[in-house]
Amino acid sequence: MADNVNSLPFFYGNITREEAEDYLRQAGTINGLYLLRQSRNYLGGFALSVQHSGRCYHYTIEREGNQTQTYAIAGGKSHRSPENVIDYHAQETDGLVCLLKKPCNRPKNMLPKVGPFEDLKEKLIREYVKQTWNLQGAALEQAIISQRPQLEKLIATTAHERMPWFHGLITREDSEPRLQRGSRTNGKFLIRQRDQSGSYALCLLHEGQVMHYRIDRDGSGKLSIPDGKKFDTLWQLVEHYSYKPDGLLRVLTDPCPRPGGDAGQTERPLLSTDHPGLNSAIQSAAGILHKLRTVPIPGLKKGRPSQRSPRNDLNTYETKLPNNQAAGKEAMPMSTEVFESPYADPDELRSATVDRDHLMLEDGELGSGNFGTVMKGIYKMRKTEKQVAVKILKNDDNNLSVREEMLREANVMQQLDNPYIVRMIGICEAENLMLVMELAELGPLNKFLQRHKQTSIKNLTELVHQVAMGMKYLEEHNFVHRDLAARNVLLVTQHYAKISDFGLSKAVAEEQNYYKAKGHGKWPVKWYAPECINYFKFSSKSDVWSFGVLMWEAYSYGQKPYKGMKGNDVMQMIESGQRMDTPLNCPPEMYDLMRNCWTYKADERPGFSVVEMRLRDYYYDISQ
Ligand code: AMP
Repeated sequence: MADNVNSLPFFYGNITREEAEDYLRQAGTINGLYLLRQSRNYLGGFALSVQHSGRCYHYTIEREGNQTQTYAIAGGKSHRSPENVIDYHAQETDGLVCLLKKPCNRPKNMLPKVGPFEDLKEKLIREYVKQTWNLQGAALEQAIISQRPQLEKLIATTAHERMPWFHGLITREDSEPRLQRGSRTNGKFLIRQRDQSGSYALCLLHEGQVMHYRIDRDGSGKLSIPDGKKFDTLWQLVEHYSYKPDGLLRVLTDPCPRPGGDAGQTERPLLSTDHPGLNSAIQSAAGILHKLRTVPIPGLKKGRPSQRSPRNDLNTYETKLPNNQAAGKEAMPMSTEVFESPYADPDELRSATVDRDHLMLEDGELGSGNFGTVMKGIYKMRKTEKQVAVKILKNDDNNLSVREEMLREANVMQQLDNPYIVRMIGICEAENLMLVMELAELGPLNKFLQRHKQTSIKNLTELVHQVAMGMKYLEEHNFVHRDLAARNVLLVTQHYAKISDFGLSKAVAEEQNYYKAKGHGKWPVKWYAPECINYFKFSSKSDVWSFGVLMWEAYSYGQKPYKGMKGNDVMQMIESGQRMDTPLNCPPEMYDLMRNCWTYKADERPGFSVVEMRLRDYYYDISQ
């Protein structure tokens, strides 16, 4: 996996080609001596530097593919990781100048070099999420973890917009006086946008004259000066030509400041930092927000905007991105009404009860169960109106135990507050007993996937990862769910899942960490771990087993697990050591994780912190 390159002793991180040559030379004149470094022009790409006959050769290893990430030297064979590319070329030259013979390891105590953008990225993402969705604390962390690939790309591809050297849509004629004004240092430069199609120009002052270099975008969205190196972002292009002319008349030196500076942006700096590019980049990120208003997406905030944050503004950033391979065309969970608790706003008083006068039920059932029905409704809060789902207990049902079950469910839900769990808004005791919850309009995951067989592996992984995040939260708070299954994961949007149905859930004592059922009930046996069936013992580890089954359901697009089998046969199958086969086209990494979740002994089974991490790594890895 590309994430593991940092641990390779011959990976140097973000060093220049010249630095790579120095390291190779210092190690002696050995044919086939090589090192790996981060590509400075392709996001997520690498460069391989090889020494042969006293010269150094450099090869770009590009990251390719959408669903399954692969790496290849341009025109060469694809491999699963940069390390595999190297292993391959240790055996086969296949176009390389020679076989890779010996790694040139980093000097002792030297860590892979972190590039300037990598350094800034973290701060930029944080500021961006904070400002755009007005999030902080745990919600901010959860947002970043679940949407990091999309956020990274958003920042990387738009952060140039308010860099001092980026002058926007101005003509060639307008650019020249700007460069001639003030200091006339050789190498003073600016970048202007030439048209709306994503083509730019680099304008460079050389001996008092302004040179104009076109920057075109090719079919795959890469930027380059004619016949020059290709880059994913303007940031990388500027960085490259700042250390090396590489075909230009000279290197870029002083950014030509935009007249009026960052007009229209925040007046005070958002972060105090001494990096010259950071403030403007952060402001750029904030500025992007205003430019991204496009058509609303179903399931997103609409109609009743929240007054406390600008979150509604960012419904999608599709139009902003240069091509399809660029980050999310998707809406992010944070843009919905249900990412944060409705009570996160201090002006909304938290109360376990909902006033019937403030609750309007709408026509149309969302679903039903033996307790009654689930209806859509609107709940009028102090400052906003929220769309809600209302679980209504059947009135003719005098069955006290169903009422108690519903109150128990409400009691558990009330204690939980996580973006990947359906929150309870309150209980309403009126003509019926009603449980008012956040609305997850697209309904159960299994049904959704049965209807949407085109859902990509990346999308499935994104959703399953969100469920793992919700389950990690439950595990940390000592709750066991006991009914985790795809039918109980509800979708807010195609990219936002929430765990629901806490009817069987229990709080467990921290010391004991499991719940012992008194007897066998109406149980979803196909989702249950052996210790649940054999000893009635329920823990987060048994939820992990169920999570493995849920993963199987997701990657099989909502098929029923152990199809056609009776509960007893399933138990026998498990006891005999057999497990379900991999779903068709399921990535091996994900099937491997399911098999881990189905480890027979609970003690040897991974917990949700491990499961979530493995999903996170895989999700980041397959996300461009
Ligand atoms: P439950 O008994 O909690 O599984 O609810 C039965 C059905 O009602 C579910 O399968 C969903 O289709 C629907 N439902 C329950 N809760 C919600 C919700 N919060 N938002 C949207 N639909 C829901």
